[in-house]
Parts: sequence; structure tokens; C-alpha cells
Amino acid sequence: MVKRSDRTKKKKFRRRPSGKSKQYFVRDRGKKHHCAVCNSVLHGVPHSKKASEVKRLSKSQKRPSALFAGTLCSKCRTVVAEEAAKISAGTKKIDEVELKLRHYVERVKVV
Ligand SMILES: [Zn+2]
Repeated sequence: MVKRSDRTKKKKFRRRPSGKSKQYFVRDRGKKHHCAVCNSVLHGVPHSKKASEVKRLSKSQKRPSALFAGTLCSKCRTVVAEEAAKISAGTKKIDEVELKLRHYVERVKVV
């Protein structure tokens, strides 16, 4: 019978020196968050925490206070801001922007 505390954990198997395999349980921790465009790891975002644990954090502990922080990495964020500026200046059209970035560029409000 599996222990009640192990029921929510992931079951894994490891072969012992004796040749027999033994099962053990590990808590399935969350993965790191990734950029929506280039899939690189996001910084300043909590990882390997449960949703209830993240909920208890303050706003600034959940994500950086920047444009599309928690969604895009800093490199993609810079590209989006540049494209938005070019469109507002009239040097580029929205149809010429890369399809991946278009959704984000449309949402940027240039003052
Ligand atoms: Zn990115």
C-alpha cells in the first residue's frame, strides 16, 4: 500500500546495486517559465512553487515591473518596443512586423 503522503508524488524507479529495481516517490515540482516568442528561460519569475504559494507572494515577487514582463524575455521585449516605435513613427507598417511579434506590438501604446 502506498503511503497517503506519496499518493500525490511522482513514482520513479531506480535500479539498485543488487540488480533489483526499487520505486521511490518525488514531489513533481513546477518548471521554469519561458518566453512566449523565443522560449528562453524568464528571469525574476517564481518557479518550482505551487499556485497557492505563488498567490501568497507580493506583486513585485511574482514578475518584474516591465513591459510584457512574465511573458517575454528582455531581448524580445526590446524588439517589440522598437517595432512599436517604428510603427508609431510611420517608418514601418504592421503587416511588415514578424507574425510572432505582431500580437505584442499591437498592444504597445507609444506615448
Ligand atoms: Zn524571448
